[in-house]
Amino acid sequence: MASVTKSAEILAEKPKELAALRAEITESRRKASELASEYYRRIERKNPQLNAFLSLTRERALAQAARIDALTARGDPLPLLAGIPFAIKDVLVMRGAASTAGSKILQGYRPPYDATVVTRLESAGAILLGKTNCDEFAMGSSNENSAYGPVRNPWDTERVPGGSSGGSAAAVAANLAVAALGTDTGGSIRQPASFCGVVGVMPTYGRVSRYGLIAFASSLDRIGPFAGNVRDAATVLSVIAGHDPCDATSLRAPVEDYAAASDQPAEGLRIGVPGEYFAEGLDDEVRAAVERGIAALRAAGCTVKPVHLPHTRYAVPTYYLIATAEASANLARFDGVRYGYRSPRSETLSAMYSHSRDEGFGAEVKRRILLGTYALSAGYYEAYYRKAQQVRRILADEFLRAFAQVDAIVTPTSPVPAFKLGEKTDDPLSMYLADIYTVTASLAGICGVSVPCGTTRAGLPVGMQVLATHLGESTAFRVARAVEAAGI
Ligand code: GLN
Repeated sequence: MASVTKSAEILAEKPKELAALRAEITESRRKASELASEYYRRIERKNPQLNAFLSLTRERALAQAARIDALTARGDPLPLLAGIPFAIKDVLVMRGAASTAGSKILQGYRPPYDATVVTRLESAGAILLGKTNCDEFAMGSSNENSAYGPVRNPWDTERVPGGSSGGSAAAVAANLAVAALGTDTGGSIRQPASFCGVVGVMPTYGRVSRYGLIAFASSLDRIGPFAGNVRDAATVLSVIAGHDPCDATSLRAPVEDYAAASDQPAEGLRIGVPGEYFAEGLDDEVRAAVERGIAALRAAGCTVKPVHLPHTRYAVPTYYLIATAEASANLARFDGVRYGYRSPRSETLSAMYSHSRDEGFGAEVKRRILLGTYALSAGYYEAYYRKAQQVRRILADEFLRAFAQVDAIVTPTSPVPAFKLGEKTDDPLSMYLADIYTVTASLAGICGVSVPCGTTRAGLPVGMQVLATHLGESTAFRVARAVEAAGI
């Protein structure tokens, strides 16, 4: 009971819409510096319960707010995100600011540069309040793998916020930030968005530069926004998207005005519903909520038809082979020499490497390095890693065939609503299996949005996942907006 009372208080203040806040600032009804201070006061009040922020970047945020106030005072035109308070997942680097990736091994690491998304947000006038908690190196679905303690779900503080970007999702849900950035490798934006009742966007692979992202699995990692509504998430994406010479995988495709696209009615769009995503293991209340969402799309003038994605059942093993293989390579750089933690037990060089890694990494990260190294080792490479790459291609082709018939595909984001803290920590396999609806789109490189779609009887949020093809973000936003407008 206590937790329910606490949650109501935590959720009491909803963030204002981005455009409304911006108007208050541009029309001098409110100072950016006052708004930032108001957010810091709220963080001080609520963060001890939620553990959503790991560190605050107050000096930098207030200096940026003062710049915005100076522009307003001079009557200069203001950029798109002028004065908007943001939270940044702690896998994204900010110059001189603690960047831990939720790991003890990066304690004390202060990067010498800014991630491209950080530069873009600040150039657009955003105020970056601080860094948010996450599963260690973004590996997890509940935020319980953070070396700095779990984040609590603002809707029920006895439950997980989802992961790995749980701190960013919780921060937006509790109005500790108007919008936030997270990363999604196999669901880490979409799933916490669904657990916390906010909008989360996984852009197409390459749509947003990964420069300055502490890598987990480089062929899967995406950076994307969380916001309180679809239009705000679309606005943020239009700021962070676009080619970047510092990331060779970033796409040269032009950036659309996603907010304007999200204003377009969904009428006439063809929506695919894959039976494979509504099978065994799906919670009844989640199914009912998503079915109400589908009915709302029909009512908005969409045509709804079945599509088939028959290899979906291979997605979880494929993902956990590829992601761990890439992680084992990416995490080799944390050796006690170049970054962060070094074990004091360092009699020899090789003892220093192994003690630093043993003491610096948590259990889940070690499990994945072992799995990934095994999948890549001589003799097993063909059976595991190469096979997984072949299945990945089949899964991607299957999506592309479906998108020849429909404009978007809708599914539940997660088979269950937010679960209790500790419920799955002893059973990593059940934690992996819960990623069933998000990992396939990650492997295929396509884009997706999780949009709130009602609540369970116990009052927990449910998310609908809207998938669209490569660079189909505008379509995904239109569909998500129609679900949001139905107010399910
Ligand atoms: N839950 C998935 C995992 O543990 C996805 C994580 C992510 O997207 N970063 O790998």
